[in-house]
Amino acid sequence: APVLLWFERDLRLADNPALTAAIAGGRPVLPVFVLDDETPGAWRPGGASRWWLHHSLAALAGALGRLGLPLVLRRGNAEAVIPALAAEAGAAAVTWTRRYEPWNRARDARIKETLTAAGVTATSHNGTLLHEPWTVKTGDGRPYQVFTPYWRAIRGRAGPDRPLPAPPSATAPASVPHGLELAALDLLPTRPDWAGGLRQAWQPGEDGARQRLAAFVRRGLKGYGAGRDRPDRAGTSMLSPHLHFGEISPGTAWTAVDGAGAADPALAADAEAYLRELGWREFSYQLLFHHDDLADAALRPEYGAFPWRDDPAGLAAWQRGRTGYPIVDAGMRQLWQTGWMHNRVRMVAASFLIKDLLLPWQAGERWFWDTLVDADLANNAASWQWVAGCGADAAPFFRIFNPVLQGQKFDPDGSYVRRFVPELARLPDRWVHQPWAAPSAVLADAGVRLGQDYPRPIVDHAAARPRALAALATLKETA
Ligand code: FAD
Repeated sequence: APVLLWFERDLRLADNPALTAAIAGGRPVLPVFVLDDETPGAWRPGGASRWWLHHSLAALAGALGRLGLPLVLRRGNAEAVIPALAAEAGAAAVTWTRRYEPWNRARDARIKETLTAAGVTATSHNGTLLHEPWTVKTGDGRPYQVFTPYWRAIRGRAGPDRPLPAPPSATAPASVPHGLELAALDLLPTRPDWAGGLRQAWQPGEDGARQRLAAFVRRGLKGYGAGRDRPDRAGTSMLSPHLHFGEISPGTAWTAVDGAGAADPALAADAEAYLRELGWREFSYQLLFHHDDLADAALRPEYGAFPWRDDPAGLAAWQRGRTGYPIVDAGMRQLWQTGWMHNRVRMVAASFLIKDLLLPWQAGERWFWDTLVDADLANNAASWQWVAGCGADAAPFFRIFNPVLQGQKFDPDGSYVRRFVPELARLPDRWVHQPWAAPSAVLADAGVRLGQDYPRPIVDHAAARPRALAALATLKETA
């Protein structure tokens, strides 16, 4: 009787404990992926994630094929599909990688019960995190709410084990239940095909992930500590979608970077800065683990009463990168074109939506969910709450980014803005982050007609700041 190996967000062969365990038993292995849009409800994967998933599944099917294994694709509620498929295949066991979204945890617990009652062994493994959320607790046994002590606690532990190698061989079952064609999952955009920029920017799948990590360790790691804040430099690993889909394990990234830092003292501080970011990912997952509604409701309940504005035109301008603030618009257009945005610019663009436009952070979270290739329930929700000041260990609400100063500091010669907002490309450095302040002769020279080629600011930051602080003050009065 075969082992059903259920893939979901662990789309890799290397360092995949569920896969290793399935093969170790010596039984035939039947890999399966179920597109389950029912269980997550409104949080089913968005457009960019679906594009990625399609290509990642194609890559996984290819890699499994080289091992001699099929990949059975199904669609539907996994709670029904998995036990049915196990019965159909006559499986003795089902094994998978643990998930952390509250609805998936509940679903998986029910599936375990159903399988066990049917005499099928059900086992889950940790293939997503460095540390299971329930194993990291404060001295008095509570989950951490503050990052630095959390980080100290996990940094002090032994690092991850050496990554498991991809298995050299496996046995397929004699008969394979039918599955869908990949195309039948309907994951790709049809018309319009907005995925051209994504195709150019990314190679989904385990090979693409491994190449990114290798390139980062070779070229990006040096200077990462300071350079990670510079959107005009390709200074970060861009591993986030690969990590989200589990095409590479966090342990593999950790081991590679930690090893590079240990081998070369000149890289030690940069390596430490990178490991700390992996620590933020862990921290976000443990927040989600302890707060089921992290993606929907403010962790600080008083923020539920925040007097948000209703401004569909403002929201649309932000989404399309037409706010009139170049650093914000460059970020939003990078997101739309490539499915990714630099972290510094994510913070600036999110702060603009929340504090300059006074629109609810959940509206931005939703847009990111649909457009990011790395859209991740834990990281996205925790980060939006962080910027909004309503999360765990969040930036205080009153710390409001000035989009001009942020642009000048982190994109000093405007090359990031010029790349994504080409209508401003010919403006001199001095004005590229504040075109409305440029003398009209300079604008004319650069071929910029404000209000036509590029919008005037949709809100005056100097006035938006006190407005945001006044809104915050109403909260304090009601709290
Ligand atoms: P690197 O700098 O190379 O970092 C390495 C890895 O560490 C990343 O791949 C990521 O897995 C993790 N990481 C880095 N920064 C963070 C962080 N602040 N929080 C949690 N994990 C982090 N990240 C997502 O993966 N998915 C999201 O949906 C997401 N939404 C965000 C929304 C907002 C408003 C903000 C401010 C940040 C968001 N982030 C999200 C966090 C961060 O911006 C991205 O992880 C990072 O930009 C990915 O690029 P990278 O892989 O080059 O990062």
